[in-house]
Amino acid sequence: MRLLMKFGGTSVGDGERMRRVAEIIAHSRQDGNELAVVVSAMTGVTDQLIGMALEVANGVRKPPIDPFIDSLRERHRKALEVAAPDLVNEVGTTMDERLESLKNIFNAVFNLSELTPRSRDYIISFGERLSAPILSAALRHQGVPSQVLDGCEAGIVTTPNHGDALAIHSCEARIKGRVAPLLSISVPVIMGYMGCTERGVVTTLGRSGSDYSATIVGAAIGADEIWIWTDVDGVMTSDPRLIKDARVVPSISYLEAMELSYFGAKVLHPRSLEPAMRKDIPIRVKNTFNPGYPGTLVFREGRVDTRVVKAITLIDKVALVNVTGVQMIGRPGVAKTIFAALADKDVNIMMISQGSSEANISLIIEESHLENALEALSAVHKSGYFREVASDRDVVAIAVVGAGMAGTPGIAGRIFTALGAACINIVMISQGSSEANISLVVKTAEGVKAVQILHDEFRLAEVPDE
Ligand code: ADP
Ligand code: ASP
Ligand code: MG
Repeated sequence: MRLLMKFGGTSVGDGERMRRVAEIIAHSRQDGNELAVVVSAMTGVTDQLIGMALEVANGVRKPPIDPFIDSLRERHRKALEVAAPDLVNEVGTTMDERLESLKNIFNAVFNLSELTPRSRDYIISFGERLSAPILSAALRHQGVPSQVLDGCEAGIVTTPNHGDALAIHSCEARIKGRVAPLLSISVPVIMGYMGCTERGVVTTLGRSGSDYSATIVGAAIGADEIWIWTDVDGVMTSDPRLIKDARVVPSISYLEAMELSYFGAKVLHPRSLEPAMRKDIPIRVKNTFNPGYPGTLVFREGRVDTRVVKAITLIDKVALVNVTGVQMIGRPGVAKTIFAALADKDVNIMMISQGSSEANISLIIEESHLENALEALSAVHKSGYFREVASDRDVVAIAVVGAGMAGTPGIAGRIFTALGAACINIVMISQGSSEANISLVVKTAEGVKAVQILHDEFRLAEVPDE
Protein backbone atom coordinates (compact mmCIF):
# COMPACT_ATOMS: atom_id res chain seq x y z
CA MET A 1 0.00 0.00 0.00
CA ARG A 2 0.99 3.61 -0.47
CA LEU A 3 0.41 5.42 2.83
CA LEU A 4 0.63 8.97 4.03
CA MET A 5 1.25 9.05 7.78
CA LYS A 6 0.91 12.25 9.79
CA PHE A 7 2.18 12.54 13.36
CA GLY A 8 0.82 15.29 15.61
CA GLY A 9 2.68 17.33 18.21
CA THR A 10 2.14 15.03 21.18
CA SER A 11 3.26 12.03 19.11
CA VAL A 12 6.68 13.68 18.68
CA GLY A 13 6.73 15.52 22.02
CA ASP A 14 10.15 14.20 23.13
CA GLY A 15 13.04 12.00 21.98
CA GLU A 16 11.50 8.77 23.25
CA ARG A 17 8.30 9.52 21.33
CA MET A 18 10.25 10.38 18.18
CA ARG A 19 11.97 7.01 18.49
CA ARG A 20 8.64 5.25 18.88
CA VAL A 21 7.24 7.04 15.83
CA ALA A 22 10.28 6.06 13.78
CA GLU A 23 9.66 2.46 14.82
CA ILE A 24 6.05 2.60 13.66
CA ILE A 25 7.21 3.94 10.29
CA ALA A 26 10.03 1.40 9.98
CA HIS A 27 7.67 -1.52 10.71
CA SER A 28 5.16 -0.33 8.18
CA ARG A 29 7.91 -0.06 5.58
CA GLN A 30 9.14 -3.57 6.44
CA ASP A 31 5.60 -4.76 5.79
CA GLY A 32 6.07 -3.60 2.20
CA ASN A 33 4.30 -0.24 2.34
CA GLU A 34 5.52 2.89 0.60
CA LEU A 35 5.35 5.85 2.97
CA ALA A 36 5.44 9.62 3.02
CA VAL A 37 5.33 11.31 6.42
CA VAL A 38 4.01 14.70 7.53
CA VAL A 39 5.07 15.91 10.97
CA SER A 40 3.92 18.69 13.32
CA ALA A 41 5.99 20.78 15.68
CA MET A 42 6.82 19.21 19.05
CA THR A 43 3.88 19.78 21.36
CA GLY A 44 3.58 23.35 22.67
CA VAL A 45 6.29 24.81 20.40
CA THR A 46 3.93 26.60 17.99
CA ASP A 47 2.17 28.25 20.96
CA GLN A 48 5.53 29.35 22.35
CA LEU A 49 6.59 30.81 18.98
CA ILE A 50 3.33 32.72 18.64
CA GLY A 51 3.65 34.03 22.21
CA MET A 52 7.24 35.16 21.69
CA ALA A 53 6.45 36.78 18.33
CA LEU A 54 3.75 38.90 19.97
CA GLU A 55 5.97 39.81 22.91
CA VAL A 56 8.77 40.83 20.61
CA ALA A 57 6.51 42.92 18.39
CA ASN A 58 4.68 44.70 21.21
CA GLY A 59 7.31 44.88 23.93
CA VAL A 60 8.66 48.22 25.00
CA ARG A 61 11.56 46.45 26.65
CA LYS A 62 13.34 43.69 24.84
CA PRO A 63 11.92 40.27 25.79
CA PRO A 64 14.32 37.44 26.65
CA ILE A 65 15.01 36.30 23.08
CA ASP A 66 18.31 34.55 23.82
CA PRO A 67 17.00 32.41 26.70
CA PHE A 68 13.98 31.52 24.56
CA ILE A 69 16.19 30.34 21.70
CA ASP A 70 18.36 28.44 24.19
CA SER A 71 15.35 26.63 25.62
CA LEU A 72 14.22 25.61 22.13
CA ARG A 73 17.74 24.41 21.36
CA GLU A 74 17.91 22.40 24.56
CA ARG A 75 14.56 20.68 24.05
CA HIS A 76 15.21 19.76 20.42
CA ARG A 77 18.80 18.71 21.04
CA LYS A 78 17.74 16.44 23.89
CA ALA A 79 15.17 14.81 21.62
CA LEU A 80 17.79 14.37 18.91
CA GLU A 81 20.23 12.78 21.35
CA VAL A 82 17.64 10.18 22.34
CA ALA A 83 16.14 9.55 18.90
CA ALA A 84 19.29 9.58 16.77
CA PRO A 85 22.43 9.56 18.94
CA ASP A 86 24.75 8.90 16.00
CA LEU A 87 23.49 11.92 14.03
CA VAL A 88 23.70 14.60 16.72
CA ASN A 89 26.59 16.46 15.09
CA GLU A 90 25.19 16.51 11.57
CA VAL A 91 21.58 17.33 12.42
CA GLY A 92 22.53 19.52 15.39
CA THR A 93 24.37 21.85 13.00
CA THR A 94 21.26 22.25 10.82
CA MET A 95 19.19 22.95 13.93
CA ASP A 96 21.68 25.52 15.19
CA GLU A 97 21.59 27.35 11.84
CA ARG A 98 17.80 27.47 11.95
CA LEU A 99 17.78 28.72 15.53
CA GLU A 100 20.29 31.40 14.64
CA SER A 101 18.11 32.69 11.83
CA LEU A 102 15.03 32.57 14.10
CA LYS A 103 16.94 34.68 16.62
CA ASN A 104 17.83 37.19 13.91
CA ILE A 105 14.19 37.45 12.85
CA PHE A 106 13.03 38.04 16.42
CA ASN A 107 15.63 40.79 16.80
CA ALA A 108 14.55 42.39 13.53
CA VAL A 109 10.87 42.30 14.56
CA PHE A 110 11.76 43.91 17.89
CA ASN A 111 13.83 46.66 16.24
CA LEU A 112 11.06 47.45 13.77
CA SER A 113 8.25 47.01 16.37
CA GLU A 114 6.27 45.46 13.59
CA LEU A 115 5.08 41.92 13.04
CA THR A 116 3.64 41.53 9.56
CA PRO A 117 1.43 38.52 8.78
CA ARG A 118 4.21 37.39 6.49
CA SER A 119 6.94 37.45 9.13
CA ARG A 120 4.58 35.93 11.68
CA ASP A 121 3.99 32.96 9.38
CA TYR A 122 7.68 32.51 8.80
CA ILE A 123 8.34 32.56 12.55
CA ILE A 124 5.62 30.08 13.46
CA SER A 125 6.76 27.63 10.78
CA PHE A 126 9.94 27.08 12.82
CA GLY A 127 8.27 24.51 15.07
CA GLU A 128 8.05 22.15 12.12
CA ARG A 129 11.45 23.30 10.77
CA LEU A 130 12.97 21.99 14.00
CA SER A 131 10.95 18.80 14.54
CA ALA A 132 11.14 17.32 11.02
CA PRO A 133 14.96 16.93 10.92
CA ILE A 134 14.81 15.01 14.23
CA LEU A 135 12.20 12.55 13.00
CA SER A 136 14.06 12.07 9.74
CA ALA A 137 17.28 11.45 11.68
CA ALA A 138 15.45 8.98 13.95
CA LEU A 139 14.46 7.06 10.83
CA ARG A 140 17.96 7.04 9.45
CA HIS A 141 19.23 5.92 12.84
CA GLN A 142 16.92 2.90 12.50
CA GLY A 143 18.26 2.16 9.03
CA VAL A 144 15.43 3.72 7.03
CA PRO A 145 16.63 6.11 4.30
CA SER A 146 14.90 9.45 4.76
CA GLN A 147 15.06 13.07 3.74
CA VAL A 148 13.37 16.25 4.92
CA LEU A 149 11.24 18.55 2.78
CA ASP A 150 9.68 21.79 3.92
CA GLY A 151 6.11 22.48 2.80
CA CYS A 152 7.29 24.56 -0.13
CA GLU A 153 9.83 21.98 -1.30
CA ALA A 154 7.08 19.37 -1.14
CA GLY A 155 5.15 21.50 -3.63
CA ILE A 156 2.35 22.82 -1.37
CA VAL A 157 1.40 26.06 -3.09
CA THR A 158 -1.19 28.16 -1.28
CA THR A 159 -3.24 31.32 -1.46
CA PRO A 160 -1.48 34.30 0.13
CA ASN A 161 -3.83 34.37 3.18
CA HIS A 162 -1.22 34.35 5.89
CA GLY A 163 -2.20 32.34 8.94
CA ASP A 164 -5.06 30.62 7.16
CA ALA A 165 -3.83 29.74 3.68
CA LEU A 166 -5.58 27.32 1.35
CA ALA A 167 -3.79 24.94 -0.99
CA ILE A 168 -4.48 25.72 -4.63
CA HIS A 169 -5.69 22.73 -6.64
CA SER A 170 -3.11 23.12 -9.35
CA CYS A 171 -0.29 22.26 -6.92
CA GLU A 172 -1.26 18.59 -6.97
CA ALA A 173 0.90 17.81 -9.97
CA ARG A 174 3.82 19.64 -8.41
CA ILE A 175 3.52 17.70 -5.14
CA LYS A 176 3.24 14.44 -7.02
CA GLY A 177 6.29 15.31 -9.11
CA ARG A 178 8.37 16.12 -6.04
CA VAL A 179 7.25 13.55 -3.48
CA ALA A 180 6.16 10.44 -5.41
CA PRO A 181 9.58 9.69 -7.00
CA LEU A 182 11.15 9.59 -3.52
CA LEU A 183 8.87 6.89 -2.17
CA SER A 184 10.60 3.89 -3.71
CA ILE A 185 13.97 4.92 -2.29
CA SER A 186 13.21 6.61 1.03
CA VAL A 187 10.67 7.98 3.47
CA PRO A 188 10.29 11.72 2.90
CA VAL A 189 9.50 13.62 6.10
CA ILE A 190 7.50 16.71 5.19
CA MET A 191 7.09 19.66 7.53
CA GLY A 192 3.38 20.08 8.18
CA TYR A 193 1.40 23.30 8.65
CA MET A 194 3.23 25.31 6.01
CA GLY A 195 3.29 25.96 2.30
CA CYS A 196 4.28 28.89 0.17
CA THR A 197 2.72 31.18 -2.38
CA GLU A 198 3.47 30.99 -6.10
CA ARG A 199 6.24 33.49 -5.41
CA GLY A 200 7.78 31.36 -2.68
CA VAL A 201 6.60 33.36 0.36
CA VAL A 202 6.03 31.06 3.36
CA THR A 203 2.43 30.68 4.53
CA THR A 204 0.76 28.63 7.26
CA LEU A 205 -2.47 26.67 6.97
CA GLY A 206 -4.26 27.61 10.22
CA ARG A 207 -3.81 26.09 13.67
CA SER A 208 -3.67 22.31 13.61
CA GLY A 209 -3.00 22.63 9.88
CA SER A 210 -0.65 19.64 9.66
CA ASP A 211 -3.73 17.44 9.23
CA TYR A 212 -4.54 19.51 6.17
CA SER A 213 -0.93 19.22 4.90
CA ALA A 214 -1.33 15.45 5.28
CA THR A 215 -4.45 15.15 3.15
CA ILE A 216 -3.16 17.60 0.54
CA VAL A 217 -0.03 15.48 0.08
CA GLY A 218 -1.89 12.19 0.47
CA ALA A 219 -4.34 13.14 -2.26
CA ALA A 220 -1.57 14.38 -4.57
CA ILE A 221 0.56 11.24 -4.33
CA GLY A 222 -2.49 8.99 -4.73
CA ALA A 223 -2.15 7.40 -1.28
CA ASP A 224 -4.32 4.34 -0.64
CA GLU A 225 -4.94 5.58 2.88
CA ILE A 226 -4.04 8.58 5.04
CA TRP A 227 -3.21 7.74 8.65
CA ILE A 228 -3.49 10.53 11.21
CA TRP A 229 -1.56 9.48 14.31
CA THR A 230 -2.52 11.31 17.49
CA ASP A 231 -2.78 10.87 21.27
CA VAL A 232 -6.26 9.32 21.50
CA ASP A 233 -7.66 6.04 20.15
CA GLY A 234 -9.57 7.65 17.28
CA VAL A 235 -12.47 9.98 16.65
CA MET A 236 -14.57 9.74 19.79
CA THR A 237 -18.16 10.39 20.73
CA SER A 238 -16.95 13.54 22.50
CA ASP A 239 -13.71 15.13 23.64
CA PRO A 240 -12.30 12.58 26.11
CA ARG A 241 -10.72 15.43 28.08
CA LEU A 242 -14.20 16.70 28.93
CA ILE A 243 -16.38 13.60 28.85
CA LYS A 244 -14.87 10.67 30.72
CA ASP A 245 -17.12 8.00 29.20
CA ALA A 246 -16.54 9.12 25.59
CA ARG A 247 -16.08 6.13 23.27
CA VAL A 248 -14.19 5.57 20.02
CA VAL A 249 -16.34 5.68 16.88
CA PRO A 250 -15.07 2.80 14.70
CA SER A 251 -16.19 4.37 11.45
CA ILE A 252 -17.58 7.70 10.37
CA SER A 253 -18.41 9.37 7.06
CA TYR A 254 -16.43 12.28 5.64
CA LEU A 255 -19.44 14.51 6.11
CA GLU A 256 -19.84 13.64 9.77
CA ALA A 257 -16.13 14.06 10.41
CA MET A 258 -16.25 17.45 8.72
CA GLU A 259 -19.18 18.61 10.87
CA LEU A 260 -17.43 17.32 14.00
CA SER A 261 -14.14 18.99 13.26
CA TYR A 262 -15.80 22.21 12.24
CA PHE A 263 -17.59 22.24 15.57
CA GLY A 264 -14.55 21.75 17.72
CA ALA A 265 -13.40 18.11 17.56
CA LYS A 266 -9.75 19.08 17.47
CA VAL A 267 -8.71 15.58 16.42
CA LEU A 268 -9.02 16.56 12.72
CA HIS A 269 -8.61 19.94 11.07
CA PRO A 270 -11.89 20.92 9.32
CA ARG A 271 -10.21 21.49 5.97
CA SER A 272 -8.39 18.19 6.09
CA LEU A 273 -11.42 16.20 4.99
CA GLU A 274 -11.89 17.84 1.62
CA PRO A 275 -8.76 16.64 -0.26
CA ALA A 276 -9.31 13.06 0.94
CA MET A 277 -13.01 13.16 0.11
CA ARG A 278 -12.35 14.49 -3.38
CA LYS A 279 -10.13 11.49 -4.12
CA ASP A 280 -12.12 9.02 -2.02
CA ILE A 281 -9.09 8.20 0.14
CA PRO A 282 -9.96 6.69 3.53
CA ILE A 283 -8.50 8.44 6.59
CA ARG A 284 -7.55 6.33 9.58
CA VAL A 285 -7.20 8.08 12.93
CA LYS A 286 -4.86 6.10 15.20
CA ASN A 287 -3.16 6.37 18.57
CA THR A 288 0.64 6.54 18.57
CA PHE A 289 0.59 5.27 22.13
CA ASN A 290 -1.68 2.32 21.31
CA PRO A 291 -0.72 1.44 17.73
CA GLY A 292 -2.35 -2.00 17.78
CA TYR A 293 -5.81 -0.45 18.20
CA PRO A 294 -7.64 -0.10 14.87
CA GLY A 295 -8.76 3.49 15.52
CA THR A 296 -11.41 5.22 13.43
CA LEU A 297 -11.87 4.85 9.70
CA VAL A 298 -13.25 7.93 7.97
CA PHE A 299 -14.62 7.13 4.53
CA ARG A 300 -17.53 7.80 2.22
CA GLU A 301 -19.81 5.04 3.47
CA GLY A 302 -18.63 5.22 7.07
CA ARG A 303 -21.66 4.26 9.08
CA VAL A 304 -21.12 1.18 11.14
CA ASP A 305 -23.11 2.58 14.02
CA THR A 306 -26.82 2.64 13.28
CA ARG A 307 -27.55 5.31 15.85
CA VAL A 308 -28.42 8.63 14.30
CA VAL A 309 -26.34 10.78 16.63
CA LYS A 310 -22.63 9.97 16.48
CA ALA A 311 -20.93 12.58 18.60
CA ILE A 312 -21.28 15.78 20.59
CA THR A 313 -18.69 18.52 20.37
CA LEU A 314 -18.04 21.66 22.31
CA ILE A 315 -16.39 24.72 20.91
CA ASP A 316 -15.20 27.47 23.18
CA LYS A 317 -13.48 30.72 22.23
CA VAL A 318 -16.59 31.85 20.37
CA ALA A 319 -18.68 34.98 20.78
CA LEU A 320 -22.36 35.65 20.25
CA VAL A 321 -23.38 38.74 18.29
CA ASN A 322 -26.99 39.82 18.35
CA VAL A 323 -28.27 42.38 15.87
CA THR A 324 -31.77 43.67 16.69
CA GLY A 325 -34.26 46.31 15.63
CA VAL A 326 -37.84 46.45 14.34
CA GLN A 327 -36.62 48.30 11.27
CA MET A 328 -35.15 44.96 10.06
CA ILE A 329 -38.64 43.48 9.61
CA GLY A 330 -39.55 42.92 5.97
CA ARG A 331 -36.67 45.03 4.75
CA PRO A 332 -34.75 43.38 1.92
CA GLY A 333 -30.97 43.62 1.98
CA VAL A 334 -30.44 43.77 5.75
CA ALA A 335 -28.83 40.35 5.97
CA LYS A 336 -26.80 41.02 2.83
CA THR A 337 -25.47 44.27 4.25
CA ILE A 338 -24.58 42.70 7.60
CA PHE A 339 -22.83 39.69 6.08
CA ALA A 340 -20.99 41.73 3.46
CA ALA A 341 -19.67 44.11 6.14
CA LEU A 342 -18.49 41.18 8.25
CA ALA A 343 -16.90 39.44 5.28
CA ASP A 344 -15.01 42.63 4.40
CA LYS A 345 -13.47 42.50 7.85
CA ASP A 346 -12.56 38.78 7.50
CA VAL A 347 -15.01 37.72 10.21
CA ASN A 348 -15.73 34.02 10.03
CA ILE A 349 -19.37 33.28 10.86
CA MET A 350 -19.85 29.85 12.40
CA MET A 351 -23.59 29.87 13.10
CA ILE A 352 -26.50 32.04 12.04
CA SER A 353 -30.02 32.18 13.33
CA GLN A 354 -32.87 34.52 12.51
CA GLY A 355 -36.19 34.56 14.28
CA SER A 356 -39.26 34.51 12.06
CA SER A 357 -40.19 37.99 13.30
CA GLU A 358 -37.00 39.08 11.50
CA ALA A 359 -36.35 41.60 14.26
CA ASN A 360 -33.19 39.80 15.25
CA ILE A 361 -30.21 38.07 13.67
CA SER A 362 -27.88 36.13 15.96
CA LEU A 363 -24.43 35.04 14.92
CA ILE A 364 -21.70 32.93 16.45
CA ILE A 365 -18.22 33.95 15.44
CA GLU A 366 -14.70 33.13 16.57
CA GLU A 367 -13.98 35.13 19.70
CA SER A 368 -10.80 36.52 18.16
CA HIS A 369 -12.91 38.10 15.40
CA LEU A 370 -15.24 39.95 17.78
CA GLU A 371 -13.49 43.31 17.65
CA ASN A 372 -13.52 43.33 13.85
CA ALA A 373 -17.16 42.27 13.83
CA LEU A 374 -18.23 45.07 16.15
CA GLU A 375 -16.28 47.58 14.11
CA ALA A 376 -17.91 46.38 10.88
CA LEU A 377 -21.39 46.45 12.40
CA SER A 378 -20.95 49.87 13.91
CA ALA A 379 -20.29 51.20 10.39
CA VAL A 380 -23.49 49.51 9.11
CA HIS A 381 -25.43 50.82 12.13
CA LYS A 382 -25.02 54.36 10.87
CA SER A 383 -27.16 53.53 7.84
CA GLY A 384 -30.11 52.69 10.09
CA TYR A 385 -30.56 49.01 9.22
CA PHE A 386 -30.97 47.99 12.86
CA ARG A 387 -31.29 49.44 16.35
CA GLU A 388 -28.53 47.80 18.31
CA VAL A 389 -25.73 45.27 18.42
CA ALA A 390 -24.98 43.28 21.56
CA SER A 391 -22.26 40.73 22.09
CA ASP A 392 -21.44 38.04 24.64
CA ARG A 393 -18.10 36.27 24.99
CA ASP A 394 -19.30 34.09 27.81
CA VAL A 395 -20.84 31.38 25.62
CA VAL A 396 -19.88 28.06 24.01
CA ALA A 397 -21.30 26.31 20.97
CA ILE A 398 -22.32 22.67 21.14
CA ALA A 399 -22.97 20.51 18.09
CA VAL A 400 -24.90 17.26 17.97
CA VAL A 401 -23.57 15.45 14.90
CA GLY A 402 -24.71 12.45 12.86
CA ALA A 403 -25.47 11.96 9.17
CA GLY A 404 -28.46 9.79 10.10
CA MET A 405 -30.16 12.80 11.68
CA ALA A 406 -31.22 13.96 8.24
CA GLY A 407 -34.88 13.14 7.98
CA THR A 408 -35.12 11.51 11.43
CA PRO A 409 -37.82 13.34 13.38
CA GLY A 410 -37.62 13.93 17.09
CA ILE A 411 -33.89 14.58 17.56
CA ALA A 412 -34.29 18.29 18.24
CA GLY A 413 -37.13 17.51 20.66
CA ARG A 414 -34.92 15.11 22.61
CA ILE A 415 -32.10 17.64 22.78
CA PHE A 416 -34.28 20.42 24.13
CA THR A 417 -36.21 18.21 26.52
CA ALA A 418 -33.00 16.79 28.02
CA LEU A 419 -31.41 20.22 28.46
CA GLY A 420 -34.66 21.74 29.71
CA ALA A 421 -34.99 19.03 32.36
CA ALA A 422 -31.53 20.00 33.61
CA CYS A 423 -32.55 23.68 33.66
CA ILE A 424 -29.91 24.59 31.07
CA ASN A 425 -30.88 27.69 29.16
CA ILE A 426 -30.30 27.56 25.39
CA VAL A 427 -29.17 30.92 24.08
CA MET A 428 -29.34 30.11 20.36
CA ILE A 429 -30.16 27.20 18.05
CA SER A 430 -29.22 26.44 14.48
CA GLN A 431 -29.42 23.47 12.12
CA GLY A 432 -27.19 23.13 9.08
CA SER A 433 -28.98 22.42 5.83
CA SER A 434 -27.06 19.13 5.54
CA GLU A 435 -29.04 18.18 8.66
CA ALA A 436 -25.93 16.35 9.82
CA ASN A 437 -25.80 18.59 12.86
CA ILE A 438 -27.92 20.60 15.23
CA SER A 439 -25.92 23.24 17.04
CA LEU A 440 -26.82 25.29 20.03
CA VAL A 441 -25.28 27.87 22.28
CA VAL A 442 -25.24 27.89 26.07
CA LYS A 443 -23.45 29.91 28.72
CA THR A 444 -19.82 28.83 29.22
CA ALA A 445 -20.38 27.64 32.79
CA GLU A 446 -23.02 25.16 31.59
CA GLY A 447 -21.12 23.91 28.53
CA VAL A 448 -19.53 20.69 29.77
CA LYS A 449 -22.65 19.73 31.74
CA ALA A 450 -24.78 20.22 28.63
CA VAL A 451 -22.44 18.01 26.56
CA GLN A 452 -22.54 15.28 29.21
CA ILE A 453 -26.35 15.41 29.33
CA LEU A 454 -26.60 15.05 25.55
CA HIS A 455 -23.94 12.32 25.53
CA ASP A 456 -26.10 10.45 28.05
CA GLU A 457 -29.38 11.21 26.26
CA PHE A 458 -28.13 9.63 23.03
CA ARG A 459 -26.42 6.82 24.99
CA LEU A 460 -23.14 7.44 23.27
CA ALA A 461 -21.08 5.77 26.00
CA GLU A 462 -22.73 2.43 25.18
CA VAL A 463 -21.49 0.15 22.45
CA PRO A 464 -24.30 0.06 19.86
CA ASP A 465 -25.88 -3.30 19.01
CA GLU A 466 -25.30 -4.06 15.36
P1 ADP B 1 -2.29 16.26 17.45
O1 ADP B 1 -1.21 16.97 18.19
O2 ADP B 1 -2.02 14.81 17.30
O3 ADP B 1 -2.68 16.92 16.16
P2 ADP B 1 -4.63 17.41 18.72
O4 ADP B 1 -4.41 17.89 20.13
O5 ADP B 1 -4.66 18.41 17.64
O6 ADP B 1 -3.54 16.29 18.42
O7 ADP B 1 -5.97 16.55 18.64
C1 ADP B 1 -6.16 15.46 19.51
C2 ADP B 1 -7.03 15.88 20.67
O8 ADP B 1 -8.32 16.22 20.18
C3 ADP B 1 -7.30 14.81 21.66
O9 ADP B 1 -6.28 14.73 22.65
C4 ADP B 1 -8.66 15.19 22.26
O10 ADP B 1 -8.55 15.80 23.53
C5 ADP B 1 -9.20 16.23 21.29
N1 ADP B 1 -10.57 15.93 20.84
C6 ADP B 1 -11.60 16.82 20.85
N2 ADP B 1 -12.72 16.25 20.40
C7 ADP B 1 -12.42 14.97 20.08
C8 ADP B 1 -13.17 13.87 19.56
N3 ADP B 1 -14.46 13.98 19.25
N4 ADP B 1 -12.52 12.71 19.35
C9 ADP B 1 -11.20 12.58 19.64
N5 ADP B 1 -10.45 13.58 20.15
C10 ADP B 1 -11.03 14.76 20.36
N1 ASP C 1 2.10 22.99 14.84
C1 ASP C 1 0.88 23.55 14.32
C2 ASP C 1 -0.06 23.94 15.44
O1 ASP C 1 0.26 23.76 16.60
C3 ASP C 1 0.21 22.64 13.33
C4 ASP C 1 -0.29 21.33 13.88
O2 ASP C 1 0.07 20.92 14.99
O3 ASP C 1 -1.05 20.66 13.16
O4 ASP C 1 -1.10 24.48 15.17
MG1 MG D 1 -4.02 18.44 15.63
